[in-house]
Parts: sequence; C-alpha cells; structure tokens
Amino acid sequence: MRYVADDLLGLQILLQNMEEGNNIGTKKRESISKVLRELVNPKHGKLRATIINQGIELNYLPKSIKILKDLLRHSSNCKIPEEMEIVESTIVNFLWFLSAIATNDSSFARHVRDMLKVKFFHSEVYKKIFFAKSASHYPLLKILRQLSKNDDTASILGKEGVMTTIRKSFSLVGTTPGGKLLIIMDILSQLTKKKTNSTRFQKAGLLVKVMQVFSNWELWRGQGLLRLSKFLISTYNHVARTPSGRKAIIKCDAILQIRKFCDACPSERSFDEVLMRISGLVATCYHKDILPLDKVESPIVFQVPDAVMKVQDCGSSSDDEGSDDGDEDDDKSDDNGSDDDVASSDDSGDKDKNNDNQSSDDDMEPLKVRSKLKLSTRRSSTGDHQQSLPSNMQRQSISSQDSKLDSYKKFFTEFEVTKNGLFHRKVTETKSTPMAMSLASLVDENLNETSKPKGIPRSEHKYSWITDNKDCEYVYWTSITELRRQYSIVANSINHVAPFVKIPYPDFAFAYSQKSVENMLPTTDRALLRSKIISYISRTVGGESFKPKVIYSLDSLLTNTEENSSAKQKPLRNRDEKEIGNYNKRLGLEFESRFESGNLRKAIQVGERDYDLLITSDVNSRHHNQWFYFQVSNTVNDKMYTFNIINCTKTNSLFNYGMQPLYYSVTDATKGKAGWQRSGHSICYYKNGYKCATSKKRNCSKVYHTLSFSLSFAHKGDIVYIAYHLPYPYTRLMVELNAMLKASESRDDIIVKYDTLCQSLNKNEVPLLTITSQLDERSVNTREIIFLTSRVHPGESNANWVMKGILEFLLFGKTSHVQALLKKYVFKIVPMLNVEGVINGCHRCGLTSEDLNRCWKMPSEILHPTIFHTKMLIEYCCKILNLTPALYCDLHGHSRRKNCFFYGCSFSKSWQNKDKLELDDSKCLLSLPESMDRISSAFCLSYCNYDVRKSRETTARVAVWRDYRIPRSYTLECSYCGFDRGQFKGIAFGTNHLLEIGKDLCKSCLEL
Ligand SMILES: [Zn+2]
Repeated sequence: MRYVADDLLGLQILLQNMEEGNNIGTKKRESISKVLRELVNPKHGKLRATIINQGIELNYLPKSIKILKDLLRHSSNCKIPEEMEIVESTIVNFLWFLSAIATNDSSFARHVRDMLKVKFFHSEVYKKIFFAKSASHYPLLKILRQLSKNDDTASILGKEGVMTTIRKSFSLVGTTPGGKLLIIMDILSQLTKKKTNSTRFQKAGLLVKVMQVFSNWELWRGQGLLRLSKFLISTYNHVARTPSGRKAIIKCDAILQIRKFCDACPSERSFDEVLMRISGLVATCYHKDILPLDKVESPIVFQVPDAVMKVQDCGSSSDDEGSDDGDEDDDKSDDNGSDDDVASSDDSGDKDKNNDNQSSDDDMEPLKVRSKLKLSTRRSSTGDHQQSLPSNMQRQSISSQDSKLDSYKKFFTEFEVTKNGLFHRKVTETKSTPMAMSLASLVDENLNETSKPKGIPRSEHKYSWITDNKDCEYVYWTSITELRRQYSIVANSINHVAPFVKIPYPDFAFAYSQKSVENMLPTTDRALLRSKIISYISRTVGGESFKPKVIYSLDSLLTNTEENSSAKQKPLRNRDEKEIGNYNKRLGLEFESRFESGNLRKAIQVGERDYDLLITSDVNSRHHNQWFYFQVSNTVNDKMYTFNIINCTKTNSLFNYGMQPLYYSVTDATKGKAGWQRSGHSICYYKNGYKCATSKKRNCSKVYHTLSFSLSFAHKGDIVYIAYHLPYPYTRLMVELNAMLKASESRDDIIVKYDTLCQSLNKNEVPLLTITSQLDERSVNTREIIFLTSRVHPGESNANWVMKGILEFLLFGKTSHVQALLKKYVFKIVPMLNVEGVINGCHRCGLTSEDLNRCWKMPSEILHPTIFHTKMLIEYCCKILNLTPALYCDLHGHSRRKNCFFYGCSFSKSWQNKDKLELDDSKCLLSLPESMDRISSAFCLSYCNYDVRKSRETTARVAVWRDYRIPRSYTLECSYCGFDRGQFKGIAFGTNHLLEIGKDLCKSCLEL
C-alpha cells in the first residue's frame, strides 16, 4: 500500500496492466482489480487520499472508460461460466476503484460530458451491471450520483430515461433503511433540480415510490433519517415548482404523510431546518408562498434627482438576505464583520470599483497637491497623511476640488484666531438654532401655550425629559410644553416622502426607557419555534377557520385620494392623551404608522386576536425589512394578542436570543409611568414559506422570516406604540439640539457652534456641531480634531442615543474630564448622517435604496450629500489645516451580537497584501478600545475586531482610514438586545446604558 502510494508509477503500472486486458490473463487482471479496490478502501485514510489524488493526476477517466469497455466486451463474449464470474468480479472491483476517485473529483461529470460518455455510463455500465450483480450497487450509485449533480449530465441522463432506470433500481434495493437507498434519494433530489427531470420523475411514478420509502421513516435513525427527510423534501420542493407537480403532491397525500412526520419529528436541533423546509413546501403547495401584497416594492417612492440613480439588483440583494444557506454567510459576517456590514449584493457590485480605485490611488499622486499642502502652516499630527489621495478627488480636476474645499472654511472658523488675541465666538454670533425653529408660523394654535417657568420639570412630569445622564445635571430654560410646541414646529416643517397623519406620542413626550434595569428573556425555546412552525403547517394543510381580514393597508391609503388630501391639509399634531379610553367594541385592534420613522404597511387579522403584519421596505426598494414602528389602538386589556411580522428579511435575529420589542403605553404615560419598556413573550424568529420572489418568478428558494411575539395590554382603549428599538427621530434630534444650544448660550468658556452641513436629498437640514473650549493663539496650535458621526443606518436608533450621551456630556458634563477634553480637542459632530432614512421609516438606506455606508469611497454630491460633505470636512482638515484627526468614530447598532464593541482597521489584518507591508501602530490602534474597556461596564473588548475586509472598503471606517490615513478610525457598535457578560450580564439595553456609553466614549478620548 505504502509502496504504491509513495510513487505515481505504482498506480500507473497497475492501471496499465488493467488496460492490457487479456494479455495478462483473466485471473491476473482480477487480482490487480482487487488491489485497486483495496487501495481505495476507506480504512486506509490518508494513504487512500493519496491514491485518489494520484488517480486524478494520472487522468484516470479515459483509461477507466477503456478498461470498462474492454471488460464489458470480455464479459459478453465469455462462454465459460467460471470465467464470466471472474470478469464480472473484476468489473465490480474496478467500479469500486473508479467510484472512489469520481466521488472526489469535482470535474468528473464535466469530463464525462466532454467525452460524450454519459450514455455509456448509464446504458452500458449501469443498466448492464446493476441489474446483474448486486455487489455493484454501491459503486454504480455513487457514480450516478456524481453525474446527477451536474446540470448538463443530469439533463442528458433525463433524456436517456434515467428515471425509469431508478424506478427499477428501487425494486432491487428494497425499502429497508440503508446507504444505497439514501444515495438513490440523493440522486433524485439532484436530478429533479431540472424542471424537465421533475416532470419525468412524476411520469415515471416515482412520487409514489419515494412515499413508500418514507412510509418506513420510523425505522430510520439519527443522521440517516435526517438525510432521508432532507432529500425527500428537497425533491418535493423541486416537483412543487409546477402546478401539475403541486397538484400531484397533494393528490397522492404526500403532504399528509409529511404532516404526520412533523408531529413525531425527532427533537434534535438539526431537524428544525427540515421542519422549516416542510413549511416552505406546504406554503408553495397551498399557494401561500407569495406575500399578500400587490407588489413587493415599497409603495413609498422618491424621484431621485439627476436620473443617475444607481439601481441595485434588488432581487438578488433580497435573495442574499433570505438565502437558504444565508445563515452561514451571516454567521461569517458576525464573526469578523459587523451588522453594519450585512452581506448584500452591493458588496459584490462594489468590489470591482474598489479595485479600480485602489490602483488609481497608487498611480495618481500629483505633485500639485503636495505643494498645496506645504502652504499650510499647521503641523500635521502624524505627518504622513498626504501619501494617499482621497478617492473622490479622482473624479474632478484638482483645482476644482481645491476650490470646493475652500468653501468648507466656514465650518472651521474656530481656527481663525487673529493676532488681536482671544477668539471670542459666542453661539449668538453664528447661527445657533436649527432653521426649522424659525418657522413658528406653522404652529397649530392649540399648541401655542405659554411657556412654563424655567427648571427641570422632573417632578412636574414625573420623568426626566432632557437627560437621564447622571453626570450631566443642568438647568434648562423652558418647560416640556415649550418643547412640545417646538416639536410641532419642526414636525410640521420637515419634508417627508412617506405620508404622515400625526406626531408619534413617545417622541413628542421625549420618552426614555421606563426602567433602568430590564432583564433579557432567555434564549427562545426551540420547542416554541417548532410549535409555531407545526401549527402553521397544520393550519395551512387543514384549512383556516378564520377568514383573514385586512385591517390596515398603507397601499390603499396611498391610493385613496380623499384620505391623502385631508392628510396633507391638517397640521400634524398628537391627540393621544385625549383619545385614550375610547373603546369601540365592534372594532378590533386598529393600526397606524403614518408618522415619522413609522413603517407598517399592512395588518391582516388572521385569528380572533392574531395579526399578520407586513412592514414597509426602504423607500424605492423591496428589501431591508427589519426596523418597525407602529401604533395600535382600541385595545382590550388582559387578553393575549399575537403579532407575526411575516416579511422580515434578515436570516437570523437577536429576537431568538433574549431580545424583546419596545412598548410604550400612552395611558401609562398619563398616569406617571411614562417610557419605553421591553415587552412581549413567546417571541421567536423563523424562516417562513413566503418566497423572496415576484409572482412572475416563483422559483426562488429564498424565503422571508417571521418575527412572532405575543403581548397583552394593561388598559382598555389604550394607544400603544410598538417598535423594534428605542426610537429617536429627526424631529427629536432637532428639538433637543436646539434646547442644548440654548442652554449653553450663556457660556463664555466654550465654543458651541451649530452649522447646517448641507441639505439632505429631500431638502432637510443636516446639522453639524462644533464643540471645543475657547481657543487662543497658543492653544490653536495644539488642539486636535475628533470627528464623530452617527446613524448612517436609520434602523440603528441606538446610535443616536449614544450620540445624545456624547453631546450632553460635552456640553453639560460637570466633571474635570470635560474641561480637559474640550481643551485638548475640537469635536466635529454629524449626529445624523441619514436624515431621510430616519424620517421615512427606513431600516438601512436613504432615498436612493443605497446603503450610505457603502458609498464612502466615491460619494456623490447629489445623491449622497451628507456623506460627500462629511468626507470633505475631513479632507479639509487633512489637506488645508494639515491636521489629521486624532479619531474618527461612526456610531452603529448591531442586530446579531450583544454588548458594545469597536471595529477598527489594522494593516496586518487587511485583505490587501500591500497593506501587510505597512506597520501597525498597535498602541495607537488599541488605546481607545482598551481605555473604553477600563471605563465602560457595557464595553466588551474581546468582541472588537480589526480586520479590513474587501467588502468593507466602501464603509466610513475603512474609507476614512485608507484615504486620509487616520489610524484611529472606528465603528462603535451597540447591540439592539443586551449584555451577556460583565456587570450588566443578562440585562437589556435601555436609554440609560446608551447615554452612559456616549459619556464613557468621551472619557476614553482623554486617554488617547
Ligand atoms: Zn450600521
């Protein structure tokens, strides 16, 4: 054995002897065949693998075909029974050898096809030997399986009548559990992938055959049963693609057989997947596989300017997310990417572009730019940032870009220290309030109440409305009534694409979490998940007793012109406080989400208190269904309601790992128990049978997911808001910013500047804040810049809570840290990068159905204004001020991991080889995560990751790191869910934790 394996020549000689046929004598050839069979015996482990590789290297296939042909000829010419016996045994031995190599040779089927030998293997070898010699069954089935895996060879086999051959094979193999039967079932699941073959499958009567095999499923055990059921269900799923197939499956009671299997299905986790596939099959067979929508695309459409909108292949993107095998991809991105980083089709689409950028980065390094840089008098903190040219420079001539850069000077006026001494800029000298604040004329007169006296209205309203931040006590200049008045002004002056009919109460009430500590639920019990799937299957197969009723439909509301015009006319307001308590017993639960950040599309009552809900995809898109925010009213107290959001697109969710939706009761709020709380039980997230396909293209195997949760309401006639995570809309940001600016107006020691960075795509104001302590001629030369951005992904509202914590700490923090921080740094803050996405209830994109965190390499001034201008600000610092920012940090939320952690960029962990030539300053890279780890109890150092992946090149973190050589470029991620370690282990994220993280991030900056 070892002798043969040591040298290629050994196997070559053996094969040569086999080829020589009769010359060496029948007996001798049989002996050689025995040796060959022994060589590939699995018990030889590694040596066997060597032999197999040698076989592939020796181009075994033409030789094998020749040998087989010769042996077959010999056997048919043979007159002496003993000799025939020997030849047949030689054939069987040789088939064992051949099948072992074929199984390990991924090109086997392709080569057989190229040599036009599919027919030979099927008709000459399989048919003649299989039915004559039972010892040949295993190797022949293995060879046939290899041929069935290839599209072309499967198609040829179909034409050659392979289905009839298989039907006959069944009778030889029998129905007793065993490996051969499994291979046949595998072959069928492969062959039926081709539509023509699945028709042949039915015509050959194989549906009944496979049912017979499965009728004995109780005799099967463990892995065997798992594989058997997987092969069976995937064959059925293939057959069910055609109407006749679906009809046949129902008619022969295959579904009933499976239905019985579901009830007794083994409890192992591995069978959960089988159950999900069964629910998919049932959905297909009973026409429950297409979402109950006229069209999948969002009904909210925005006319993108310039007609140059990059249209993504929405289909493939949503397919990616809902892929059958998508979990694997997702898990990968979980390990070393972030949620910000959900694999989507844009990644692959951008890859090539990135490469182009990369090479042109190297090629283009005009001297002009360098000389320009020398004009600057300021020192560079790292001195090497000019090596790489920003990518967005490449599209325009240098001079035009530079003149453009000059226009950013206005955002850096704090650096214009004159010789006259102190630069004395008060907020009043610049525009200190958001523009929307001056639009007082729009205020509904009912809201124009007199302002309450100054002071924190904590006692008055029984909850804190400006801050929950422990270290940030400050006296505010006005009351909640005034704040609400301002809220109405802003809410009525913003531009929105989605239709609005009201102001959502929790935001209007500046809600926080109701409790500071809420425990997470335990990980979803798999039994619950199973029971949901099985009850779905039973309900679908058995027929539904409740006639589904559409309760709410955004699509209809949008087409109802009367509804629309009346909605447009009235000023937006909130009357929830007056409307609670109203209960109409003739009506069931009522739904509404036409408000900022709301996104319910349809509510269908499917049981007495069961509702199927569909959420609206991002504007101009048909995917990214994850965030939700809606209101229910006309509640009955102490009864259980179940909500199933049936069009979720992510493959996995923290809802299976202890996360609960957020719940806000208006009645509770008026009774002094205001705030968001985690609520809901029997929560689970699972793959359902709805396909991510249009009605035209039903053959898509990727499916949607259902988030199911049950709630009971404490009050009758209550109005309750339900959300994916703690909402933080644009209007609230603007009102709170205004409040903060007013409160810091009188201070001479710090510079607080509000600028409108730009207008968003739908002409809303994008704020930029500058915060630092007073600068003089001396300090201006030592102050460094920190850039903070947040909420590029609108569904990640947690990012804005962290940002709120940062702003409150910098402006009102009462510790010595704050003074030191502001003396050391100028903070440039863009608190909401994706204003449009937030306003219009999107989860991931803005109005162009592009992920703005995939646009940082080449942002378009027209389509991605916030990204473009933020990047230009950083460029201004680097090129004009000659000052590389000490830190860039982008705030995000994570939907698959717990705790809070960083993603950063390390040269040594980059996908690009040329990066690996650079040295990491690991002290510099790790100092922030390490100090965060010391300071923040919420932070988890071991979750941090510094890989630079190709698919992340277009994210803020990587683009800024690469283009401007900012070594400390991070994404800060906070889980939507909670903590699984440290002081907060088992606790769910609340507003207090998020605010605290913001504060801790600031403190950590002092240790850089
Ligand atoms: Zn994100």
